[in-house]
Amino acid sequence: MAELVCPKCGFKVRKSRTRNFYEKILKSFGSRPYRCRDKKCNWRGLMRKRSLIEFLFYAKSIYWRRIVIVITFLMGIFLAFIIFQYVIFYFI
Ligand SMILES: [Zn+2]
Repeated sequence: MAELVCPKCGFKVRKSRTRNFYEKILKSFGSRPYRCRDKKCNWRGLMRKRSLIEFLFYAKSIYWRRIVIVITFLMGIFLAFIIFQYVIFYFI
């Protein structure tokens, strides 16, 4: 995997702690804060190590895929239930 570099000076960057909720959300989407190793530059910002497509196929996203499957499944049951009710009333 390619080493991440500072967009300002091209020096190596290191991982920085997430400061707030917004950064935590972005972190879960594959972006995370980095800080420039060069103290004179002191750049800090969010960078994406993985592309969005990589993220979608990344193991962590299985969790999100599961949620989508569960929601789809519940919607299916819900729709089946509504249809079932209509069918019952039709025969009464
Ligand atoms: Zn820098």
